[in-house]
Amino acid sequence: NPQAGKYSRVLLKISGEALMGDQGYGLHPPTVSRIANEVKSVHDMGVEICMVIGGGNIFRGLQGSAQGMERATADYMGMLATVMNALGMQAALEQLGIHTRVISAIRMDEVAEPYIRRRAVRHLEKKRVCIFAAGTGNPYFTTDTAATLRANEMNCEAIFKGTKVDGVYDKDPKKHDDAKRYDTVTYDEVLQKHLGVMDASAIALARDNDLPIIVFSLDEPGGFRGILAGQGTYTRVH
Ligand code: UDP
Repeated sequence: NPQAGKYSRVLLKISGEALMGDQGYGLHPPTVSRIANEVKSVHDMGVEICMVIGGGNIFRGLQGSAQGMERATADYMGMLATVMNALGMQAALEQLGIHTRVISAIRMDEVAEPYIRRRAVRHLEKKRVCIFAAGTGNPYFTTDTAATLRANEMNCEAIFKGTKVDGVYDKDPKKHDDAKRYDTVTYDEVLQKHLGVMDASAIALARDNDLPIIVFSLDEPGGFRGILAGQGTYTRVH
C-alpha cells in the first residue's frame, strides 16, 4: 500500500490519561471514540495494528505503593486498570466496524484472550486490531515496556507513541517557550538526558532490538494517519 509508506505493521502506545479527556479520571467516551477513529483511518490504509494502552487514568502502582500498599499488589491493580481501558477501546473500535481482540498478559478467559504469540500474529494477518492488555503481566514494569516487548514479538516496524505534544523536546514545551523539538534522537541520548519518552527499561529494550519509536501528537486530528504517511512533525528515536 503506497499510502502507508514503509509501514505494514505498527504498535500504537497511548497512556491511560489519553482516554480521560478533561475529566481527570477514567474513560471519556467521546475521547475514546475519537482515538478509535484515528486507529480506523490507519487500519483503512491496510496497516496491521497492535495497541497497548496504559492504566494511569484509573490506577498507578507507584501511587498505591506510596500510600503504603505493597508494590506488587499495587502494580497488579494497575495492570487490571489497563484491561478496563482495553475493553473500552475495543468497544469503540467495534462500533466503527473494526474487528479486534483484547489479549491479556494475565489470564481472564471470560473477558480477554490469553496471550499466545502465534495466535496474536494470526489475528494481525487477518487485519484484526490486537489490543494487548495487562502490561507484561509482571509487577515493576510499565506499559511502555509492555509496548516494546509486544512490538518486538509481533515484528512491528516501529512503536508509535501518541502523546500530547508533537515529539520529544529538550524540556517541557508546555512550560518553556524556548523548548526545542528533536527531529531524531538516539536511544542513548534519551537515556543520558532523561528525556522522558518512555522509561529506561523500555528504551533499552527498543535500543537492543533496533526498534524505532516515533513520538507524535495524538491531539492533532488525523495525526496518526498523517505520521504514517510521512506528514506532520514528530520525533524519531532510533
Ligand atoms: N503495570 C505493571 N506491569 C506492567 C505494566 C503495567 O505492573 O507490565 C502497572 C504499573 O503499576 C503501572 C500501571 O500498571 O503503574 C499502569 O500502567 P502505566 O503506568 O504504564 O500506564 P500509563 O502511564 O501509560 O497510563
